[in-house]
Amino acid sequence: AQVVQAEFVKSSVRTEDCPSDGLPEFALVGRSNVGKSSLLNSLVRRKRLALTSKKPGKTQCINHFRINDSWYLVDLPGYGYAAAPQELRTDWAKFTKDYFLNRSTLVSVFLLIDASIPAKSIDLEYASWLGQNQIPMTLIFTKCDKRKKKKTGGKRPEENVYDFQELVHGFFKSAPPWIMTSSVTNQGRDEILLHMAQLRNY
Ligand code: GDP
Repeated sequence: AQVVQAEFVKSSVRTEDCPSDGLPEFALVGRSNVGKSSLLNSLVRRKRLALTSKKPGKTQCINHFRINDSWYLVDLPGYGYAAAPQELRTDWAKFTKDYFLNRSTLVSVFLLIDASIPAKSIDLEYASWLGQNQIPMTLIFTKCDKRKKKKTGGKRPEENVYDFQELVHGFFKSAPPWIMTSSVTNQGRDEILLHMAQLRNY
């Protein structure tokens, strides 16, 4: 299930403009700063692949990376970026929703959640929308290496992960699969790739 080849293919603004070769794909999405680029780079074992999608103008696009010439990793715009103008934010929401609803080769959405902080309502809203629309989702918890100092009263990543799953479970018929990760230690990397391989072979 390892990545031997990773290649940036294209940035698309609309679902119709996405690659049409029919290869299966997995979309990574999450709040800005959740660690999406770090995870993408960790998955493909490159330091800078995801930079392509961080270039100004590309951040609002659907970015396709072809892996091993047989499937796609798709980088979607981060949500919840407070500094973005309201109209831009609703625009993002519209086109990612259109992508989720109409992209027939989408196997599963990988929703990234920061495990170093308590659940955010915007993440729950996102998960709830995916659940309501019956879009297959995998929960990817990021930054699981981060330990809060006891004094500040912060919870451990494991506790935040448990709390989030409790909250999300009700939105889905069966509990979504979940994986704990860290781009610092590469925890979860092989598990994600294996999970994607299993989903592709269904
Ligand atoms: P993006 O905005 O979702 O693409 O997030 P980035 O990948 O740019 O990461 C945002 C910040 O979180 C950066 O300062 C990263 O160094 C940090 N970060 C990302 N992943 C991890 C992780 O697994 N562990 C820790 N401790 N920090 C991380």
